Amino acid sequence: MENTTPGRGLRTAKLLGALAALIMSVNGCATQSVETGSARPSLNRSVGSATDASSPATDRAAAWFEAHRHRPPMLRAFVQRMPKGGDLHSHLSGAVYAESYLEWAAEGNFCVDLAAQRLVPPPCKESDQTPLAKTLMQKTAARDALINKLSTRNLDFAGQSGHDQFFASFGGFGAASNPYEHGVEMLTEVANRAASQNIQYLEIMLTFESDAVYELAGKMPKIDPQDLGDFGKQRQWLLANGLGTLVNRARIDLNNRVRTYRESLKCDSPTEAQPACNVTVRLIAQTNRVSQPEQVFAQFAFAFELAKAEPLVVGINLVAPEDHTVALRDYSLHMTMVGYLASQLPEVKISLHAGELTMGLVRPEDLRFHIRQAVEIAKARRIGHGVDILHEDEPFELMAKMKQRGVAVEICLTSNDVILNVKGADHPLPDYLKAGVPVVLASDDEGVARIDLSNEFLRAARDYGLTYPDLKRLARNSLEYSFLPGESLWRSNAPYIMASACSADAPGTRPPSESCDKLLGRSERALEQWRLEAAFIEFENLSWLR
Ligand SMILES: [Zn+2]
Repeated sequence: MENTTPGRGLRTAKLLGALAALIMSVNGCATQSVETGSARPSLNRSVGSATDASSPATDRAAAWFEAHRHRPPMLRAFVQRMPKGGDLHSHLSGAVYAESYLEWAAEGNFCVDLAAQRLVPPPCKESDQTPLAKTLMQKTAARDALINKLSTRNLDFAGQSGHDQFFASFGGFGAASNPYEHGVEMLTEVANRAASQNIQYLEIMLTFESDAVYELAGKMPKIDPQDLGDFGKQRQWLLANGLGTLVNRARIDLNNRVRTYRESLKCDSPTEAQPACNVTVRLIAQTNRVSQPEQVFAQFAFAFELAKAEPLVVGINLVAPEDHTVALRDYSLHMTMVGYLASQLPEVKISLHAGELTMGLVRPEDLRFHIRQAVEIAKARRIGHGVDILHEDEPFELMAKMKQRGVAVEICLTSNDVILNVKGADHPLPDYLKAGVPVVLASDDEGVARIDLSNEFLRAARDYGLTYPDLKRLARNSLEYSFLPGESLWRSNAPYIMASACSADAPGTRPPSESCDKLLGRSERALEQWRLEAAFIEFENLSWLR
């Protein structure tokens, strides 16, 4: 889900546009299903294949995990230390915790509008109802109440639905999440948190050059909603009227900011480098779906061109509430736009929020086709959420198609619980797994939801009975289905069997062979996958697991 509320779409899109300008990227056995207790849904499934490679060390780790299954805090310690590969679905402003926004607001002489529970940038007039943030920070109760309002903490006492509280949070801290002010700190927080959980790779969603793209969209030829096939006229107009200039500007700005980020992390220092230096970060260029058709198309066209030209931007996505009136009205139009651009630039990788809906939130008719159109028309390689899959027409055929095409689903358990109130046996995770759809676990908005990715691994184990080999497979999936370029380390991913170039190698224990070294040298994806395998070997040989 993305941080826009009905009526706030454009403003937030612009905010994220600034963000984008700012943010950067870096370089930075047999699986047995576990018999689950009666408190858990029926989970007679197994993620891993019987031929997934195992080892005595993997088996020991799996046994430790099962021995402590009844003790979630122990499992938490396990999954935090466990290598998890990548987080492929994360919105930067939603990933930062409210405490950080409050600190920045205090440093920046912001006020707090207590009635609206919103940070107000300077110059602001201090009063009883709008105290300075730094003053309010001294009052524990008031500070705690504000953190509740800027997140979904203590949701039971929020006085509104999780959906509404979630989106209201973004409006509350929005003024302090200006990336021109704090982009480096925002990414530093998220990447350091990833490093502390043994997450090595992030794909972060951002909007780039939003204001300029909207301005251009205002002048381009109108889109006829009835003519869903040909967007060539609009694309050519955009290319002839400055889209390329905006792409170049975004690239220069992005790369400058990457340099600043890495310098601030001291990544070149052997003694002072921050943990985030070990996290590879790539970006996804996002489009706001609650804008008018011309604005949406111009954003898409820009995002496709940027992803084609800039190696740090590895794909595109579509964000903002899927249940918003405009998002529902124009859903098929948007899918057709993406499908058209995909036909023009087939090398650009596409992930789409689709099916982040539930019965009652929208009309039943709106639950029947979003995921299918994202897969079939828009050619998405990954689906974000996919919660309503079993409401789709012919859901089992659709899941079979996703499996056959290798379309992964990004599962965000806590987000779906908080925003949609879909959890436990009502969540389709077990059904995706049973159908053989590639699954990854993702955080969505870890700051607002007060979680981290380790929590989602724990939740998958606790609520759905996933075993260590299951989780290991999902971690491998997160790099296999990442948008990093290059061939895979794996010859097969169902089960995972290493490519012949590296099949005689032991990651992390000795240098790769010549053939493997060549593969790692020419493929960013294989290199990250190699890092993950080395991390697994180190993890599974930790003394406390023996
Ligand atoms: Zn999302």
